[in-house]
This record gives sequence, C-alpha cells and structure tokens, in this order.
Amino acid sequence: MTEIPDGAILQRDKKTVAIVPRIPVGLLTPETLEGLAKVIREYKIPITKITSGQRLALVGIKPEDVEAIWASLGTGVGRATELCLHYVQACPGNAVCKFGTQDSLGLGRDLEKMLISVETPAKMKIGVSGCSMCCAESYLRDIGLIGKKNGWLVTFGGNGGAHPRVADEIAADLSLAQAVDLVKKLVNCYRKHGKKRERTARFVERVGIDDIRQEVLA
Ligand code: SF4
Repeated sequence: MTEIPDGAILQRDKKTVAIVPRIPVGLLTPETLEGLAKVIREYKIPITKITSGQRLALVGIKPEDVEAIWASLGTGVGRATELCLHYVQACPGNAVCKFGTQDSLGLGRDLEKMLISVETPAKMKIGVSGCSMCCAESYLRDIGLIGKKNGWLVTFGGNGGAHPRVADEIAADLSLAQAVDLVKKLVNCYRKHGKKRERTARFVERVGIDDIRQEVLA
C-alpha cells in the first residue's frame, strides 16, 4: 500500500485499515449510531470495537473506501496516529452519576473543542472525572481533571501503556474558567519545551515537575 488514507491505521494484514470516528466524550446519539450501522453494513466492515478511550474503532476497511466512509459518517476525521489530541475521555459526572460533584461531560466537550486542532509534540489524551473515584482514569492521562467539592483538580504527565506513570497534581480548587486556563498553559508549556514524540510522562521526567509548575502557575 503506497498511501494510508487520512485518519486511517494500517492493520496487521498490511492490506486493510482501521478508523476511529470522533465521538466527543463518548456520547452517542441515535443519528450517530444509525450512521455507523449504515457504513458497517454497506462497506461490510468485519470488526467494530469499543476502545479504551471510549471511541469506536471500525476495523478491516479497504483503504479505497475510507474517504467515502468519512463523508457518510459526518463525524469529522478521528485522529489515531497524528501528533495531537486523540481524545477526551469523560465520565458521566453530575449530569447523571449520584457521586458526581462537577460537570465532567461539559468540561470534556469544551476541552475537546478547544484543543482538537492543536498540534502537540506527541499524541495527547485527556481524562475528566466528575469526582475523586476517577472513573475517567485522569491520573493516567496526559492531562487529568478531577471534580471535587471545591472545584477542579488538574493533573499532568500521566500515562498508561508500557511505561505507566501516575500524573502529578498541578493545582486544586479551581473554578471551571481557571481549570480551562491551566489546561491551556500546560499545553503551551508542553508545545514549547517538549521534544517530538515525547509523551508528557517522559517530558515531566526530563524537565522536572517543579519547573513546569513554576511556568504554568506564574
Ligand atoms: S468519577 Fe465519580 S462522577 Fe464520574 S462516574 Fe465515577 S463515581 Fe461517577
């Protein structure tokens, strides 16, 4: 295969690809589900899998079908390999969950909108949890937000994968606006000092969390 279509990931067989449509904060509508069902049937896509980041991977697609599938879905091209925000994972928060103290879905949506077109040194994932139970795995995401009674706690530098790292806490008791502002500053700091393909966990280990805190909290 000479060229991998936009937003596609080459599979083991080296012939087919997978795509991961954008599904902001994992919320599905009947229209989205109907659109997905239509392309799965029409293009005979053999595997549809829920990913760890609350997205749906459509696997085993012929590369020549990808463009038409994106057009038919109308979700926007989901980013799966590029150096940018891949997803914001958010728990139901106080919209639904009896333990929720903050609106994780609302904040998650805002952050995805704010960062979706921003390039970063490596792929980036965000986890927004509505309370300390941390169901959105905020401590294992590049940027984490955790809702508390007095506001938002923001973390940075978490990672799962082969070299897991628990994120550092940057600031607590933040209003919604302060939390969003701090996320902006953390992303700017990472964009300014991070090396190409260096995930935030390795960035923190190289630069030191104290220097990062100093820059973003100044
Ligand atoms: S993190 Fe808290 S608010 Fe979110 S789903 Fe878990 S228990 Fe509910």
